[in-house]
Amino acid sequence: MPAPYQLQGIPTTTIADEFGLPLYVYDADKIIDQINRFRAAFSGSPGREINLRIKYATKALTNLSILKLMRMQGVEVDVVSVNEARLALLAGYTPEQIMYTPSGNAWPEIQEAIQMGLRLNVDSLPLLEQVGNTYGHTVPVCLRINPSVADGGNLKIQTGHADSKFGIPHALRADIARMVVHYGIVVEGLHVHTGSDFKSARTFLQGAEVLFDLAGDYPDLKFIDFGSGFKVAYREGDHVTDMAELGTAITDAFSAFCDRYGRALELWFEPGKFLVSEAGHLLVGVNVVKQHPTRTFVQVDSGLNHLIRPMMYDAYHEIVNLSNPMGTPTTYDVVGYICETDTFATNRDLPEVRPGDVLSIENAGAYGFSMASTYNLRPRPAEVLVYEGTPHLIRQRDTFEDLTRGMVDVAMLNEELIIKN
Ligand SMILES: *Cc1c(COP(=O)(O)O)cnc(C)c1O
Repeated sequence: MPAPYQLQGIPTTTIADEFGLPLYVYDADKIIDQINRFRAAFSGSPGREINLRIKYATKALTNLSILKLMRMQGVEVDVVSVNEARLALLAGYTPEQIMYTPSGNAWPEIQEAIQMGLRLNVDSLPLLEQVGNTYGHTVPVCLRINPSVADGGNLKIQTGHADSKFGIPHALRADIARMVVHYGIVVEGLHVHTGSDFKSARTFLQGAEVLFDLAGDYPDLKFIDFGSGFKVAYREGDHVTDMAELGTAITDAFSAFCDRYGRALELWFEPGKFLVSEAGHLLVGVNVVKQHPTRTFVQVDSGLNHLIRPMMYDAYHEIVNLSNPMGTPTTYDVVGYICETDTFATNRDLPEVRPGDVLSIENAGAYGFSMASTYNLRPRPAEVLVYEGTPHLIRQRDTFEDLTRGMVDVAMLNEELIIKN
């Protein structure tokens, strides 16, 4: 049987038995496949090879072993906090391999990142000024550009509302250039990551053209960074990015740009979801199946505290009944155990679900564990990586001690109790 029933030949239910539920399981082979697909798409054509750098967006799945796996595959990293950078250093990365992309982060943290030797992506004009004023030409920067503001009115890039806070508006092009000259700032890269789930190569290329055009202002560039936003299929028939088509379109345009620019620059990407989403399975156990007049609820031993995407983004996640795959198809609402509306799936047809069954929530590798919380004082699940045919524990389940660590038992409150008694 195919994934998720088996991962690298091991029945998923066996992994569940060994490590307990709920459990995040990641398939290293799938991650490596995705890396190779990505590389193949952007390698360029014979004689026009692309100097490609893949920077895994650490926030998608933040685990030491995942970072080590990425490093073994020649993938570098993009981080959004200094703590993510620290983890990358623990995984063996050098500071130069780490791109630090803040989004309104505090100045002391930016300075720390600079002292650590990370590459700095600058996301606002005030930050550019502060960096220039403090470090002058000694700290090279990458500029994060928000291309959504059209220059001349003939460019319309679709970006979601949530993305509007990101980057330096392209409309401020002249102000950026003035500041760079004033402080003698070295601009080594240009970056765009709108986060928009672009539908075609054409949409993506419009954003690319903004950077290619802007590159004319900066003669010392080393790389162009196109961020990410590559979609994966969450359900049958979903629109996904056609990587081969996109790859050809982008590498052709990039090569033509390099010719105009006069030098072959590096081409950077920062995929998160594309590399790890499909590799991840959240295995949950069924506590209760209860019939209400209008619907049947499957209540599982997990919830929005472990996977918030269905509640937060209305995300659709495929669910598979691992332990009763041949059961009679029945319609269910699959719900979590958190004390508020906590729904994984509504009106979902599954093979008959019985208490004790093991379900797999699919596409759980990206923004699953990394967005998990301890709400309701529930432990976060253990994480397992299946690597070369063996499941390895890569993170322990939280214990009660983990959940209460940091709580301070204030002496005065204890006295209060004694008096009242
Ligand atoms: C989150 C993020 C990414 C990854 O986005 P995906 O959609 O998961 O591929 C890349 N770059 C930056 C700067 C990000 O913040």
